[in-house]
This record gives sequence, C-alpha cells and structure tokens, in this order.
Amino acid sequence: MNNNILKNVAIFSLISLCHIAYAYGFDFKIIYVFFTFSILYIISKSVINKIILIILSGISIIYLPVGFLYGEPNFNTVASLYSTNTIESIEFLCNIPIKYITLSFFIAALCFLCCRLDCSFPKKYRRFIIFFVVVVAIASPLKNIIKRNNIVNIGIPEWKFASKLFHSIKEFKLEKKKLEGYMNNADTFENVKFSGKYNTYVVVIGESVRKDYMHMYGFEINNTPFMDSTNGVRFLNYISAGSSTLPSLTNSLTQYPNLSNNIITLAKKAGLYTYWISNQGFIGDIESPISSIGRKADEYFFLKKGGYNSKIKYQDSDLLPKISESININKGVNGKLIVIHLMGSHTPTCHRTNDEFDIFYGNIELSCYIQSIKNTDKLLSNIQSLLTDTNSMWSMMYFSDHGLSFNKKSIKHDYELIHSDAYKQSFEVPFFITSFDSNEKKSISAERSGLSFLGLFSEWIGIESKNILRSCHYLSDEDCNPEGIKVYNYKNHKIDFQQIPRQEKIY
Ligand SMILES: [Zn+2]
Repeated sequence: MNNNILKNVAIFSLISLCHIAYAYGFDFKIIYVFFTFSILYIISKSVINKIILIILSGISIIYLPVGFLYGEPNFNTVASLYSTNTIESIEFLCNIPIKYITLSFFIAALCFLCCRLDCSFPKKYRRFIIFFVVVVAIASPLKNIIKRNNIVNIGIPEWKFASKLFHSIKEFKLEKKKLEGYMNNADTFENVKFSGKYNTYVVVIGESVRKDYMHMYGFEINNTPFMDSTNGVRFLNYISAGSSTLPSLTNSLTQYPNLSNNIITLAKKAGLYTYWISNQGFIGDIESPISSIGRKADEYFFLKKGGYNSKIKYQDSDLLPKISESININKGVNGKLIVIHLMGSHTPTCHRTNDEFDIFYGNIELSCYIQSIKNTDKLLSNIQSLLTDTNSMWSMMYFSDHGLSFNKKSIKHDYELIHSDAYKQSFEVPFFITSFDSNEKKSISAERSGLSFLGLFSEWIGIESKNILRSCHYLSDEDCNPEGIKVYNYKNHKIDFQQIPRQEKIY
C-alpha cells in the first residue's frame, strides 16, 4: 500500500478510536471524525500536526478506561479523582479490564505509526476541505446555541470532552470551597437533648453492598448467617442518597452542605463520647469530606494513612483491636458513639477477601463479592460478641453507603460489578439494627431515604434538636416519603428514584 493511503487510513482510524475513547457516552458521529481529520490534513506539513495527534492520543489512552467504565467527565469522576489516595489509585488500575488496556496500547501504537509515516497530501482538495472545516466549526455551535442556548454541549467531541471536564472541575472546586467553609465553622445544632435508652451506640458503615446479593434479603447463598439469625429491625426498602461513597455519605451523615452539622458533632452535643474507626483513606491529595467528619470525633483512627504502604490490602477485621478498645473504655456523660467505616465489598472485590471465597457463583469477581458480604456479616457478629462481653446497654446499626451495577466485560458473556448511577440496584442497600434487648425479628417495608438519615439516626439514638425536624417515625412502618424518594446522580443532580430503570438479572 502506498504511504499516503496507509497514513490516511491510520490517522482516520486513530481519530475514530480517540472519539470513541474520550467521547464514550456521547454519540459517535463520523462527520466529526472527518472534521478532525480535515484539520490535521490542512496542517499536515506543520509540526503542530504531530503535536495534536500526540495530545489527542495521550488523552484517549489515559481517559479510555475511565470513560468506558464511568462515561463522560462529570462531577462524580472529578470528585473521585481529587479525593482518591494512592491505594485506591492502585486498586483502580488493577481493576481495569484487559480489553481497555489493549485498546489503549493500540491507540499508542497507531499514534506512533502516524507520526513516523511521512507523506504529502494532494493540494487540489485543500480549498474544499477548508470550506468543510469552517462550515462544521460554525454550524455545530450555532445549532446548539439556537436549540439549547448552551455551548457546553457542542457536538465536536474534542470540544465537548474539554468543556465537560473543565465545567466539572469548576463545579467541584466551587462545591469544595463551599463545603470547606462550612467544615471550618462550628456546628449549629441547638437545644440538643438526649433521652436514649442505650449507652453504647455503634454505627457500621458498609461499602458497595447491594441487598439482592445478601441471604437476609433472599439471595440463595447463605452469606449472612449472623444477620439472619439475630433479632432486630431490617429495613426492606432503604435507598442510599447516592451511588458512590462521597455523595451518599455527605448527604446522609450531615446536613449537607453544612458538613459541620453531622452525626459526630450531634452526638458530641448530646453528651456522647465519639469514636471514628476507619479502613478507608485518610488523606488523598485533598482530604475527603468523609474523613474530615471522622476527624471531628473525640478519637479517630484510620488504618490507611493515605500514603503508600507496603501492606495495601488491610482487611476490615484489622480494625477489631481498635473497636474492642473503644468498646471497653467509658468516657462520655451519656455513653458513646462508635462509627466504623469499612472497605466492605469495594471493588476489586477479591482484594477484600484475599482472593478467597467459599462458594463459586457467576464468576470469580462476583464470588469474592458474595464472600466479602459474608466477611462483613462475620465482623458484625464479632462486634456483637465484644459488646455483649461488656454487659453494656448497646445498640448497633449497619448499612451500606451504596450498591453496584453490572457492566459487560467483554464480547463473551461476562459481567463485572462497577459503581454506576444507571440502575436501581446501585441505590438499594441493606439496613439493619440490633440491640442487646432486641427480642424479635422485625421488618420495615416502608421506603426510607438516605437523605433523611440524620432523622432516622437521631430517633435511634434518642436525640432531639431544634435543627432536626422529626415529623416522621422512621423506626416504624409509617410512610415518610409520600412524594417519593430522591437520589443524587453522577451529575450531582437530585432525581426521582422511580425514574431510574432496574437492571435485568444477570447472575
Ligand atoms: Zn462507597
């Protein structure tokens, strides 16, 4: 094949792949491939041609795995990127399916080939091509401004990607500044009264558990023997506030955006001594809002100190000595609140179980997932034993921050669990409360929202405050959401939960 044809075919394929990579989730349009191709054609003699090719390919190589798993740049992608730490980054890289890595390598190889091949473009079409570029460059923004009065959504993928990315970064930075402002101030809880019947309250925050893979909620493998057999209250329809850790927990544990008004500061004002014991990251490049809530506790302990540590796969059970210590010390006037933040079933799920599982189900990753739920159930059972040993009047609450959804892994029939806001299962989580004096198994089927968590929490502990409206009795079957449940999606928009489709059963 002659060099010119080979190079043109290579460049055209490269641009197509780049558009698919960083514009995954947008509509792929061949006209925009021609558009980018034409620009490169016009400046083919210049060194800028190669620079553009390298930049486009570079962005595609880096963004491709993120784009394929989580779609276009949005508030959530940027927030996760900013608050992640080294361990989470390593885990993310380990979790990238091989097909995306292969595609990234293919883009790199094509880019290398395009830069190496030398050729000249015939001049006779130049005028026509310049005309085409000008028409598309004008028509695309014009169409959008007329139709939607919006220049962010202009169809040209390079523009769309860059503007979505910068828009999301701007949005995130604004939000972060607002939250930091609140976090640096004292809480504003007033007239806090405590009338709780227990003196030891334990909140266990699970991670990435969807309830349909739990035996307690009807799943076929018995991976929740403790919760199955223990007396207490099960919420059958608790819907998390978001489908990833940050939006879910900031909206549940605090009076968002006022992060200073949170479960820790509320408990402290009620005369409880507070502990925050976490297996999640402490410092990323920027401290996460969740760990900053934790640091408001009288005593806090983070297994991961943020920096790279040789033992990266800390297990949740490694928290037990610290949990035992906090259970056995009594310092508060009215007792204590111990918040335990787990890694639970976070992907890659086999890291959570040291690559082990008792029963194979679906595929290896899912088998580890089911096992990780069993491990959390075992941990809850261990905590209950520690509590019982102290003869204290205790109550323990367990829920998960959000669920997960399936994503098709490759051409063959194989799926993986990922964070997603696309399906109901990403929001349907377990919620279970047990106490030393629980004497029956009770189920609450009325819908409960993660956005009203603070109300539910204060009712459970027995706290009243002027700032917390408790118009509903959350620990009963009363309908507390007559207008339906709302959740936050990845764009940080509040939407109706009912609008979200249910993913059909895969395994
Ligand atoms: Zn999470």
